[in-house]
Formats: sequence, structure tokens, C-alpha cells
Amino acid sequence: MKNPLPRAPISKPPFTLSDIKKAVPPHCFERSLIRSCYYLVHDLILIYIFYYIAATYLHVLPSPYSYLAWFTYWIVQGCVSTGIWVNAHECGHQAFSHYPWINDTIGFILHSALLTPYFSWKYSHRRHHSNTASLENDENYVPKTKSEN
Ligand SMILES: [Zn+2]
Repeated sequence: MKNPLPRAPISKPPFTLSDIKKAVPPHCFERSLIRSCYYLVHDLILIYIFYYIAATYLHVLPSPYSYLAWFTYWIVQGCVSTGIWVNAHECGHQAFSHYPWINDTIGFILHSALLTPYFSWKYSHRRHHSNTASLENDENYVPKTKSEN
């Protein structure tokens, strides 16, 4: 029988991070303040529309439909609200725009709304990305070693 996992999870992959970056088209690395603001405003408008619909109409539905509608609202609103986190995350990476002060201002506002301290998150998150999956240096998602299992 053929081994479904030809590479052990602890061995290095047959490609580098540089190989992956070269495979991504260059236009994907371009930052645009207008496009970033469009996505942010788009998400905020959708969040408001879903909130308005829920606050105005869901409580008047009969009981079984009301529960189903609220459950659907939570899922849909959660998906759209994740976009706010994504925008805030990109601010921390200085990918929202070419202007660091705009990235930090919008990142601070969005992170504050999400109850996450922006600047401390920004620095610890940078450390996380520079040491992702490192057993010794990553601050998040550190897997158990063989001896710990
Ligand atoms: Zn990140």
C-alpha cells in the first residue's frame, strides 16, 4: 500500500517561503488605500444592514422562525464582522495603505472596537509571523513535541 503521507510532518517541505512568494503574482502585493477603505466601508454597511434587519424584524417573527432567524443572523453577522478583524489585521501588517500613520490610526480604532490592544498585538503578531510553527520561538500555536506526546 502506498504511503498517503510521503513526507513526515516534522521534515522540511520541498519548497521555501521564497518559492511561495515568487509564485504569487506581483499585483497581489500592491497596497491601495482606496481599495482597503472600500472593503472596510463595505463591511461596515453590511454589518449595519444586518443589524437593522435583525433589530427591526426578527422579534416579530413567530417563535420557531424567530429562533432560526436569530441563529442565521449570528452566523451571517459573524462572517461579515470577521472582515473588520481582517482589515484591522492588515493595518498591523502595514498592508492597509502605503501610509504608516493611516494604518496605525485605523488599526487602533478597529482593534479598540474589537477590544484588542492594537500596538501590543501588532508587535507580538509580528513575532508570531516571523517564527510561525517554530517550536522554540513562536508565541502562538506551539505544537507538542514528540517527548510531550
Ligand atoms: Zn498576520
